[in-house]
Amino acid sequence: MVTDCRNCGAALEGRYCSRCGQDSREPPEDVWGLFGFFAARFAGVESRAFRSVTALLFQPGRLTRAFLDGHRARYSGPVQIYLWCTAAFFVVQTFFPIVRLDTESGAVVSSLSAVSIGTDLSPETLQRLADQGTSIAVFAERFDGAVTAYFPVVLVALVAASALLMALLYRRESALKHAVFALHWTAFYFALEMVRQLFPRLGQWGSVASILSTLFALLYLYRAMRIVYERGRIGTVLRAFLTIIVFAALLGAWLWSTTAIAERLA
Ligand SMILES: [Zn+2]
Repeated sequence: MVTDCRNCGAALEGRYCSRCGQDSREPPEDVWGLFGFFAARFAGVESRAFRSVTALLFQPGRLTRAFLDGHRARYSGPVQIYLWCTAAFFVVQTFFPIVRLDTESGAVVSSLSAVSIGTDLSPETLQRLADQGTSIAVFAERFDGAVTAYFPVVLVALVAASALLMALLYRRESALKHAVFALHWTAFYFALEMVRQLFPRLGQWGSVASILSTLFALLYLYRAMRIVYERGRIGTVLRAFLTIIVFAALLGAWLWSTTAIAERLA
């Protein structure tokens, strides 16, 4: 019988150590015992992840509310959820680039639904590329690399900007509330953008789907704000509208900056 925690040495009063949380029950050493042990661990982690992602997508504000109310073990943490969403987005992005340099037209084009830009490279840049003997195709690859390298900065900046926006929209609320809300909202936004990448493949229904998804985002934000910040309906509608607009502007600024990067690279 073990009486002290094998991790930190504290006296045990129950199965889990009261100081560091380690389980005092040793993992089984035989094959079948191990099989059950790993299956149980895996199912535990998986069911929590599944519950968290479903809540993030279909129950606006639920995760943020649960976190703030102290129900933290039930769901995965906000930073973790955000990292999953952005990682998934990153994978999708490699197959359907969000921003790319169109080799036909020499323009920076984006498939982000919130903003559509088709910024041409300046004639000077094109001339410079021609002088260097760099083809647009080679340059497009270099551009891809730069956008990818710059992406982690964008991910952090978007959360920081959302938290700051919430702090401006809702005075006298804790920084923690804004930070958790911002992480969940931005994670949701990236998840939605992944779905939106399919819309151009829907043909004529693509634009209908695009409008519906924007309405869904607005409704989601409204519900989430109501549940988390608990203010009046009209005030929340206005704040949700403003947030959607600011978000589109932020993404627009990002895309615009990618064109600036392309110009610098040339
Ligand atoms: Zn311990």
